[in-house]
Amino acid sequence: MGVRRRSGSFILQVNPILCDGFGHCGELAPELVTMDEWGYPIITAEPTPYNDARVHESARYAERGCPRQALRIRRVSD
Ligand code: SF4
Repeated sequence: MGVRRRSGSFILQVNPILCDGFGHCGELAPELVTMDEWGYPIITAEPTPYNDARVHESARYAERGCPRQALRIRRVSD
């Protein structure tokens, strides 16, 4: 059995109501997140292919590491 690769793309989304602006996500997923001057995340709206394993792993770290559970990885249609 081979390794199954996931097709499609994802984006990382933030719930601005839950986000407290401490900025851990910018450290955990620097490929996707920059911080504004107040420490709130600015997340790229450009979909990332799931087969970009390094960036997908960063997104998963950020999703799991957000202390407010404000981040979600969402599949987007091709
Ligand atoms: S880690 Fe979560 S709570 Fe902190 S800035 Fe990022 S989205 Fe907001």
